[in-house]
Amino acid sequence: MLQAIARTARETARLTGRGRFAENVMTAIRSVQRSRFVPDGLVVEAYENIALPIGYEQTISQPYIVALMTDLLRPEKDHICLEVGTGSGYQAAVLSLLTSKVYTIEIIAPLFRQASSQLHKMHYDNVYPLLGNGYLGYPEAAPYDRIIVTAAAEKIPPALIEQLKKGGRMMIPIGPENGAQVLYQVDKDAAGEVTTQPVLDVRFVPLIEGETLAL
Ligand code: SAH
Repeated sequence: MLQAIARTARETARLTGRGRFAENVMTAIRSVQRSRFVPDGLVVEAYENIALPIGYEQTISQPYIVALMTDLLRPEKDHICLEVGTGSGYQAAVLSLLTSKVYTIEIIAPLFRQASSQLHKMHYDNVYPLLGNGYLGYPEAAPYDRIIVTAAAEKIPPALIEQLKKGGRMMIPIGPENGAQVLYQVDKDAAGEVTTQPVLDVRFVPLIEGETLAL
């Protein structure tokens, strides 16, 4: 899987500007057991460089995309992060090895429960799973050094811009469901000015903007 990620990084370097991902990011990906975050029936495919279904029409992202987004986030050891879209918990686990705290919000209750219990069992103790609507962020622990959104929004949720620290960065896919989506890097400078930069065409499940679903 690591080799496939490195190969895809080289192939997309012209678009992303990153032909090689940071060593600390690759080390984190190497040390998180992806097989523990996929459904039992898909364990044999856990180390393929592909997205996999995790139920409720949701997916665990392709490992290359996890690596790219994590790399572009430039995580640092003292960072407080917010992830919107916990899904399986895999991305949160990777990020937790590179930063100080990861708050991660999931809107589908059974996925939240499954990911929480998995992260707890595996002792990712600096991950704080939350059930709720990540479109609104999590103001209680804001502002964040880094924000990662792993579902595609129609536009950048204003609450997330607000909850991003000055000097902070957010990675977020933007675009319609089943349409042309683009991964954006969003930077807020020391003066609070926000700039956005497109990185790569991507395909994510949609960010739900409604109320918490009680399934
Ligand atoms: N990062 C995940 C992949 C998540 S797929 C992983 O590593 O496995 C996207 C997830 O976002 C889905 O689980 C979906 O239920 C969740 N989601 C969609 N809209 C959301 C919202 N408004 N708030 C929180 N989670 C949301």
